[in-house]
Amino acid sequence: MPRIHLTTLGCAKNQVDSDKLVSVMNASGYGTDALAEEADIVMINTCAFIEDAREESINTILEAERAKRPDAKLVVIGCLAQRYATELVESLPEVDAVVGLDRYGDLVGTLDDLSGIDVERPRGSSMDILFETSRPTPGTPYAYVKVAEGCDKPCTFCAIPLIRGAQRSRSPINIRQEMSELCDAGVGEIVLVAQDLAAYGRDIQAPGGITELLEFVGDVQGLRRLRLLYLYPKEIRPGLIEAMATTSSIAPYFDLSLQHASQPLLRAMKRPGSGESFAALIDDIRAASPTATTRSSFIVGFPGETGSQLEELADFLTAVRLDWAGFFPYSPEIGTPAAELEGQLPKDEIVERVRYLRNIQDEITQAANTDQVGRELEVVIDGIEDGQPFGRSYREAPEIDGLISLDRGEPGDWVTVEITGAYGTDLVGVVQ
Ligand code: SF4
Repeated sequence: MPRIHLTTLGCAKNQVDSDKLVSVMNASGYGTDALAEEADIVMINTCAFIEDAREESINTILEAERAKRPDAKLVVIGCLAQRYATELVESLPEVDAVVGLDRYGDLVGTLDDLSGIDVERPRGSSMDILFETSRPTPGTPYAYVKVAEGCDKPCTFCAIPLIRGAQRSRSPINIRQEMSELCDAGVGEIVLVAQDLAAYGRDIQAPGGITELLEFVGDVQGLRRLRLLYLYPKEIRPGLIEAMATTSSIAPYFDLSLQHASQPLLRAMKRPGSGESFAALIDDIRAASPTATTRSSFIVGFPGETGSQLEELADFLTAVRLDWAGFFPYSPEIGTPAAELEGQLPKDEIVERVRYLRNIQDEITQAANTDQVGRELEVVIDGIEDGQPFGRSYREAPEIDGLISLDRGEPGDWVTVEITGAYGTDLVGVVQ
């Protein structure tokens, strides 16, 4: 059977999609462990969130075209394929197939057609594939579990609802089943993800929403740590804070998507809150969990963002002292209201503003890390690099935050560590 080389770009949710598609392709007889230069089919799971992500996707497709065997097929899937299928087909004749998210039910059939394989196959819906399919055991002690697809929020800068549609939540039983399979396979940390995680269940009338889901899955056999990513501020209710602060299996790690601190700008983004209300929310979180870790993402350079609004955000960062923060340069997304707004800023000005805010936050993050010296933390060992084990405590989410270097241990071990040093975004510790 043909062998596939799959490259995945973008967010954790896209990685989960790739994992599920690998299961479907393997179950249909396709190998998915080929090197790019050996594969019969080279597949790119793309991202289209912002301009930089689209550029990376296009460059990756062109690199794959150059690297692949001349007779191999080139297949593009994911958000760019969903959003710009026609443009991709017209502008990239070297691509053999473009399969968007809502056509994943046809993916294997498309691969059969490209490979000249004539076989009748059951064709499930895309949602069936993305929700129902079990996935291969990840090579890490953590795994992402997507609890819903799509988003109902009206943020004026965001194209995700145009790409992934309205929110569709999975059933709690389906989510628990997947978590059990992963934990049975040795995964100890589960990271729950969705575009709008804290709004989970609203579309399926799941009573109690995310808080009840946490209760329902919190005692899965083998689960050591449950982490939540992408919490929309207005959806963070006292019950959720309480559950995250008091349930031993849940990391008191609050990944807030605040996006800005200026109220007029947030309103232009069609988002709730203000610097004051966000500071109060963070105070509530820290009152419920004094050792809670906080993170947020911010959009920088939104149309019309004035110098004083930029300073307002800078002052907010200095005042609330988040442990971690990510800054995304605003880029106009076709079809979004913000792309039509007056006051679009020059790209180099936006880049400069991002650099300015990152410098402020880097100092805050380093100080928060220095405060960890002397603490004892439970750490999962993710891997070994140059003979040095490294891992993460509840304070570090996979792939986006810092790491803890250790003196000994094996991947998958859960160990108690005394933190002995802090170096920028990373820590050093000794296994007890
Ligand atoms: S909540 Fe997030 S995914 Fe949904 S529209 Fe807003 S920014 Fe986009």
